[in-house]
Amino acid sequence: MKKLQFDILTIFPDMIDSYAKESILGRAQKAKLIDVRAHDLRAFTTDKHHKVDDTPYGGGPGMIMKVEPFDLALKKIKKGKKARVIFTAANGKTFSQADARRLAKYDQVIFLCGRYEGIDQRVEDNLVDETFSIGNYVLTGGELPALVMTDAIARNIPGVLGAEASLDKESHTEEGYLEYPQYTKPEKYKKWSVPEILLSGDHKKIETWREEQSKKKKRE
Ligand code: SAM
Repeated sequence: MKKLQFDILTIFPDMIDSYAKESILGRAQKAKLIDVRAHDLRAFTTDKHHKVDDTPYGGGPGMIMKVEPFDLALKKIKKGKKARVIFTAANGKTFSQADARRLAKYDQVIFLCGRYEGIDQRVEDNLVDETFSIGNYVLTGGELPALVMTDAIARNIPGVLGAEASLDKESHTEEGYLEYPQYTKPEKYKKWSVPEILLSGDHKKIETWREEQSKKKKRE
């Protein structure tokens, strides 16, 4: 089976490693279905203080991440044609399940994580294939967005979820589809009961109920 390599460029590589080594992503790495590598951006600086940021031209608050470390890092890390470089930005296009499915077909996906006030625009203009936001709010850095997207992409690689889990009928598999409510044992907890229909054994009725429920869950 083909392996998808994720490379995440950040000044906080430990943040990535601690998430990616656990649970499904950890197992998928052991099974060689994916490989998640965090790279310390400071290793790609050329000055003795390993400076990755500087003040903005034109003035304004905060610091901006410099173009050179990203350029040098990509020269070293990016391999072949089936690689995609993703810029994380609060003002990017909102990442979707369709993007996750599409990106799962690449050999390599590289994320650039910003910090401070963001990244020099020349990075996005010259080194990047796509720019994604994970929602309409501002985070302190691009590490969580990179992990969110890595996780969502990895789930779409055959074998990552294991045999029992199905990607066919999940929320967002089709535009606007949201999964029906799910229940497990016990049948009754305090005064809270599982809907009768799910205990009926009538698979046709259960299927119809689930369809209705998933329609009800559509919001906005
Ligand atoms: N000054 C920027 C703005 O107003 O859009 C926000 C910079 S934010 C404090 C620092 C970094 O966090 C960004 O460069 C980006 O990499 C990441 N980031 C923050 N919010 C994000 C979001 N919603 N989606 C993706 N990345 C985000």
